[in-house]
Amino acid sequence: MAYVISDACISCGSCAGECPVGAISEGDGKYEINPDTCIDCGSCAGTCPVGAISQG
Ligand code: SF4
Ligand code: SF4
Repeated sequence: MAYVISDACISCGSCAGECPVGAISEGDGKYEINPDTCIDCGSCAGTCPVGAISQG
């Protein structure tokens, strides 16, 4: 399962720059992870200031 971003996201953008495969982009009201691109590395989860990223 890919990592997912919850509604707790405050759209700070920190996670997007950490993704080695560019799977994270700004969506409608929050950032989103493309499940087809995510390789489950976990790098993004540690960068989120509000803990909005978890393994789905
Ligand atoms: Fe990108 Fe890794 Fe986060 Fe998946 S788990 S979105 S590959 S940084
Ligand atoms: Fe949203 Fe967290 Fe990513 Fe910031 S780091 S854009 S709060 S998911």
